[in-house]
Amino acid sequence: SRFLSGPSDSRRLAGKVAVITGAASGIGKATAAEFVRNGAKVVLADVQDDLGRAAAAELGGPDTACYTRCDVTDEAQVAAAVDLAVARHGRLDVMFNNAGITGGNYAGAPIESLDMADFDRVMAVNLRGVAAGIKHAARAMAPRGRGCILCTSSTAGALAGSGPHAYSVSKTAVVGMVRSAAAELAARGVRVNAISPYAIATPMGARSVREMLGLPPRGAGDEEEEEELVRRVFEEDLNEMGGGVVLRAEDVARAAVFLASDDARYITGHNLMVDGGFSVA
Ligand code: NAD
Repeated sequence: SRFLSGPSDSRRLAGKVAVITGAASGIGKATAAEFVRNGAKVVLADVQDDLGRAAAAELGGPDTACYTRCDVTDEAQVAAAVDLAVARHGRLDVMFNNAGITGGNYAGAPIESLDMADFDRVMAVNLRGVAAGIKHAARAMAPRGRGCILCTSSTAGALAGSGPHAYSVSKTAVVGMVRSAAAELAARGVRVNAISPYAIATPMGARSVREMLGLPPRGAGDEEEEEELVRRVFEEDLNEMGGGVVLRAEDVARAAVFLASDDARYITGHNLMVDGGFSVA
């Protein structure tokens, strides 16, 4: 009946303007596609220019999706990505601070071998980059009294021992930063949430599995083979989790759509696990 039908435009992010960092690949790229499918305009930000431009081009014209180079370790570039979205589309509704790296110290490496330069590099991208993203998104959003900031953490941030030390603590700290910012920004109409995925066969996921196994890195390759590799390595953890379902970047993208949408308008300071139960098992 007409009483049960939804709004005339049921796309969940209709008209919203988003910036996504780390959008040239994996979770960020899948989220850019899912955002556009739901009616959003997206600025894809990354340091892989060719992949980023190609990803934006696939999503339609520059009115819908565009690419900008943005190294999140450089605050000025983060500020510029936010300013680009505002200049082009008039405002910023959603900031997805998703860019991240695993670093060189593979999971299981003894703490005695912790490489402090690697530690700094991981923190600069995974934590400092997120903090800069929150800062500049808040600058654009708080004066309007609305907006949504999302940040990618990881199950590795919740469960010690499941990722390299620097990576794990950077992801734990992302959740701390999200809570801290959410506490302040709630009264100013801006929501801040984290998303924590379990292992996914993105280039990063496959790379970290290869590092753990001591396998040589491989170039852009057969996606199914990479997925099989990740699945094999995490089979033990998976047990009956997810009922044998393999987690994909698209699953995280759909969680991001929900948090970014007005359906989640009262949800802030939350860390949404997308892990098939890994963190509670
Ligand atoms: P990915 O390697 O496919 O994508 C990461 C993207 O971030 C790349 O395009 C890369 O160029 C970009 N990036 C790296 N450093 C950057 C910088 N300084 N500035 C801007 N962009 C930069 O990996 P992904 O799996 O899609 O990772 C996305 C996020 O998800 C990361 O924060 C990662 O830690 C997190 N995560 C991944 C997994 C997994 O298993 N794949 C699990 C949990 C969390």
